[in-house]
Amino acid sequence: MQALTNRLKQVDRRKMNFLESLYLVAIFKGMLITFSHIFKKKPTINYPEKTRPFSPVFRGLHILNRDEEGRENCTACGLCAVACPAEAITMEAAERQTGEENLYREEKYAAKYEINMLRCIFCGLCEEACPKDAIYLSETFAPADYQRKQFIYKKEELLIPHPIEDPEAYKKALGNRAKKENIN
Ligand code: SF4
Ligand code: SF4
Repeated sequence: MQALTNRLKQVDRRKMNFLESLYLVAIFKGMLITFSHIFKKKPTINYPEKTRPFSPVFRGLHILNRDEEGRENCTACGLCAVACPAEAITMEAAERQTGEENLYREEKYAAKYEINMLRCIFCGLCEEACPKDAIYLSETFAPADYQRKQFIYKKEELLIPHPIEDPEAYKKALGNRAKKENIN
Protein backbone atom coordinates (compact mmCIF):
# COMPACT_ATOMS: atom_id res chain seq x y z
CA MET A 1 0.00 0.00 0.00
CA GLN A 2 1.35 3.42 -0.92
CA ALA A 3 1.67 5.81 2.02
CA LEU A 4 0.30 9.34 1.62
CA THR A 5 2.62 10.72 4.32
CA ASN A 6 5.88 9.70 5.95
CA ARG A 7 4.06 9.12 9.27
CA LEU A 8 3.07 5.55 8.43
CA LYS A 9 4.17 3.13 11.17
CA GLN A 10 4.04 -0.63 10.88
CA VAL A 11 2.32 -2.28 13.85
CA ASP A 12 4.69 -4.59 15.73
CA ARG A 13 2.86 -7.93 15.95
CA ARG A 14 5.64 -10.17 17.22
CA LYS A 15 5.10 -12.02 20.51
CA MET A 16 6.24 -10.10 23.60
CA ASN A 17 9.15 -11.44 25.62
CA PHE A 18 8.93 -11.81 29.42
CA LEU A 19 10.27 -8.31 30.19
CA GLU A 20 7.93 -6.65 27.71
CA SER A 21 4.95 -8.55 29.09
CA LEU A 22 5.58 -6.91 32.49
CA TYR A 23 5.08 -3.47 30.82
CA LEU A 24 7.61 -1.93 33.25
CA VAL A 25 9.84 -0.53 30.51
CA ALA A 26 6.83 0.90 28.66
CA ILE A 27 5.46 2.46 31.89
CA PHE A 28 8.88 3.92 32.71
CA LYS A 29 9.15 5.41 29.20
CA GLY A 30 5.69 6.91 29.54
CA MET A 31 6.47 8.40 32.98
CA LEU A 32 9.69 9.85 31.59
CA ILE A 33 7.74 11.68 28.88
CA THR A 34 5.21 12.90 31.48
CA PHE A 35 7.89 14.20 33.86
CA SER A 36 9.82 15.87 31.04
CA HIS A 37 6.76 18.09 30.50
CA ILE A 38 6.71 19.31 34.13
CA PHE A 39 9.63 21.65 33.50
CA LYS A 40 8.42 22.88 30.11
CA LYS A 41 6.47 26.10 29.68
CA LYS A 42 2.73 25.41 29.89
CA PRO A 43 0.99 25.90 26.54
CA THR A 44 -2.38 26.31 28.27
CA ILE A 45 -3.63 29.37 30.19
CA ASN A 46 -6.27 29.74 32.90
CA TYR A 47 -8.99 31.05 30.60
CA PRO A 48 -11.23 33.03 31.23
CA GLU A 49 -9.27 34.52 34.18
CA LYS A 50 -6.34 35.02 31.79
CA THR A 51 -6.61 35.80 28.11
CA ARG A 52 -4.01 35.84 25.39
CA PRO A 53 -3.20 39.14 23.71
CA PHE A 54 -4.93 39.50 20.39
CA SER A 55 -3.05 40.06 17.17
CA PRO A 56 -3.20 43.70 16.04
CA VAL A 57 -5.00 42.51 12.90
CA PHE A 58 -7.55 40.37 14.77
CA ARG A 59 -11.11 40.83 13.52
CA GLY A 60 -13.75 40.09 16.14
CA LEU A 61 -17.21 41.20 17.09
CA HIS A 62 -18.61 44.22 15.26
CA ILE A 63 -19.11 47.61 16.86
CA LEU A 64 -21.40 50.32 15.55
CA ASN A 65 -19.52 53.53 16.03
CA ARG A 66 -20.52 56.95 17.37
CA ASP A 67 -18.82 60.28 16.82
CA GLU A 68 -17.11 62.25 19.63
CA GLU A 69 -20.48 63.81 20.58
CA GLY A 70 -22.08 60.38 20.95
CA ARG A 71 -24.18 60.53 17.78
CA GLU A 72 -24.58 57.34 15.77
CA ASN A 73 -22.43 57.41 12.64
CA CYS A 74 -24.47 54.93 10.61
CA THR A 75 -26.62 56.43 7.89
CA ALA A 76 -28.22 53.12 6.87
CA CYS A 77 -26.83 53.35 3.35
CA GLY A 78 -26.65 49.57 3.11
CA LEU A 79 -23.16 49.40 1.60
CA CYS A 80 -21.96 47.06 4.34
CA ALA A 81 -24.84 44.67 3.65
CA VAL A 82 -24.11 44.72 -0.08
CA ALA A 83 -20.40 44.10 0.53
CA CYS A 84 -21.04 41.24 2.95
CA PRO A 85 -20.33 37.93 1.17
CA ALA A 86 -22.24 35.98 3.82
CA GLU A 87 -25.39 38.15 3.67
CA ALA A 88 -25.18 38.45 7.43
CA ILE A 89 -26.28 42.09 7.76
CA THR A 90 -29.83 43.40 7.67
CA MET A 91 -31.09 46.86 8.51
CA GLU A 92 -34.05 49.20 8.35
CA ALA A 93 -33.53 52.89 7.62
CA ALA A 94 -35.45 55.77 9.21
CA GLU A 95 -35.52 59.56 8.77
CA ARG A 96 -34.06 61.68 11.54
CA GLN A 97 -36.72 63.88 13.12
CA THR A 98 -36.29 67.44 14.35
CA GLY A 99 -34.76 67.35 17.81
CA GLU A 100 -32.88 64.10 17.13
CA GLU A 101 -29.73 65.83 15.86
CA ASN A 102 -27.95 64.86 19.08
CA LEU A 103 -28.72 61.17 18.45
CA TYR A 104 -27.92 60.64 14.79
CA ARG A 105 -25.17 62.35 12.82
CA GLU A 106 -26.84 62.04 9.42
CA GLU A 107 -30.39 62.74 8.20
CA LYS A 108 -30.97 59.00 7.82
CA TYR A 109 -30.12 56.41 10.42
CA ALA A 110 -30.48 52.67 11.07
CA ALA A 111 -33.64 52.14 13.11
CA LYS A 112 -32.83 48.41 13.05
CA TYR A 113 -29.44 46.87 12.44
CA GLU A 114 -28.71 43.17 12.84
CA ILE A 115 -25.74 40.91 12.19
CA ASN A 116 -26.07 37.15 12.17
CA MET A 117 -22.79 36.01 13.72
CA LEU A 118 -23.41 32.42 12.65
CA ARG A 119 -23.19 33.54 9.05
CA CYS A 120 -20.39 36.05 9.52
CA ILE A 121 -16.91 34.95 8.46
CA PHE A 122 -15.24 38.01 10.03
CA CYS A 123 -13.73 39.08 6.73
CA GLY A 124 -13.96 42.79 7.56
CA LEU A 125 -15.47 43.77 4.19
CA CYS A 126 -18.34 45.58 5.94
CA GLU A 127 -15.81 47.79 7.72
CA GLU A 128 -13.97 48.50 4.48
CA ALA A 129 -17.19 49.30 2.59
CA CYS A 130 -18.50 51.76 5.17
CA PRO A 131 -18.04 55.40 4.06
CA LYS A 132 -18.99 56.79 7.49
CA ASP A 133 -16.58 54.96 9.83
CA ALA A 134 -19.76 53.54 11.35
CA ILE A 135 -18.75 49.91 11.78
CA TYR A 136 -15.55 48.14 12.76
CA LEU A 137 -14.50 44.73 13.94
CA SER A 138 -13.27 44.82 17.53
CA GLU A 139 -10.89 42.65 19.56
CA THR A 140 -13.64 40.71 21.31
CA PHE A 141 -15.49 37.68 19.99
CA ALA A 142 -19.06 36.42 20.18
CA PRO A 143 -19.36 34.23 23.29
CA ALA A 144 -20.61 30.66 22.92
CA ASP A 145 -24.30 29.97 23.42
CA TYR A 146 -26.77 27.13 23.17
CA GLN A 147 -29.37 28.97 21.09
CA ARG A 148 -29.01 30.17 17.52
CA LYS A 149 -31.10 33.31 18.12
CA GLN A 150 -28.49 34.58 20.63
CA PHE A 151 -26.06 34.93 17.73
CA ILE A 152 -28.23 37.46 15.93
CA TYR A 153 -26.81 40.67 17.34
CA LYS A 154 -29.15 43.62 17.41
CA LYS A 155 -28.25 47.29 17.13
CA GLU A 156 -28.46 47.76 20.92
CA GLU A 157 -25.78 45.07 21.43
CA LEU A 158 -23.57 46.33 18.61
CA LEU A 159 -23.65 50.04 19.43
CA ILE A 160 -20.55 51.39 21.17
CA PRO A 161 -21.19 52.96 24.63
CA HIS A 162 -21.75 56.72 24.68
CA PRO A 163 -18.35 58.52 24.84
CA ILE A 164 -19.64 61.28 27.14
CA GLU A 165 -22.05 59.29 29.32
CA ASP A 166 -19.77 56.27 29.77
CA PRO A 167 -16.21 57.19 28.70
CA GLU A 168 -14.58 54.15 30.35
CA ALA A 169 -16.78 51.64 28.53
CA TYR A 170 -16.36 53.66 25.32
CA LYS A 171 -12.58 53.49 25.57
CA LYS A 172 -12.68 49.77 26.35
CA ALA A 173 -14.87 49.12 23.30
CA LEU A 174 -12.45 51.09 21.13
CA GLY A 175 -9.59 48.80 22.24
CA ASN A 176 -6.59 49.16 19.94
CA ARG A 177 -8.39 51.92 18.07
CA ALA A 178 -8.12 54.11 21.19
CA LYS A 179 -4.31 53.79 21.03
CA LYS A 180 -4.29 54.53 17.29
CA GLU A 181 -6.52 57.57 17.78
CA ASN A 182 -4.65 58.62 20.95
CA ILE A 183 -7.73 58.64 23.16
CA ASN A 184 -6.62 58.65 26.83
S1 SF4 B 1 -17.18 40.65 8.64
FE1 SF4 B 1 -17.57 39.96 6.54
S2 SF4 B 1 -19.05 38.31 6.76
FE2 SF4 B 1 -19.06 39.42 8.70
S3 SF4 B 1 -20.71 40.89 8.53
FE3 SF4 B 1 -18.83 41.93 7.86
S4 SF4 B 1 -18.75 41.63 5.63
FE4 SF4 B 1 -20.24 40.16 6.46
S1 SF4 C 1 -22.51 50.73 8.79
FE1 SF4 C 1 -21.66 52.11 7.25
S2 SF4 C 1 -21.96 51.04 5.30
FE2 SF4 C 1 -23.29 50.04 6.81
S3 SF4 C 1 -25.25 51.07 6.57
FE3 SF4 C 1 -24.15 52.13 8.21
S4 SF4 C 1 -23.10 53.83 7.17
FE4 SF4 C 1 -23.71 52.38 5.58
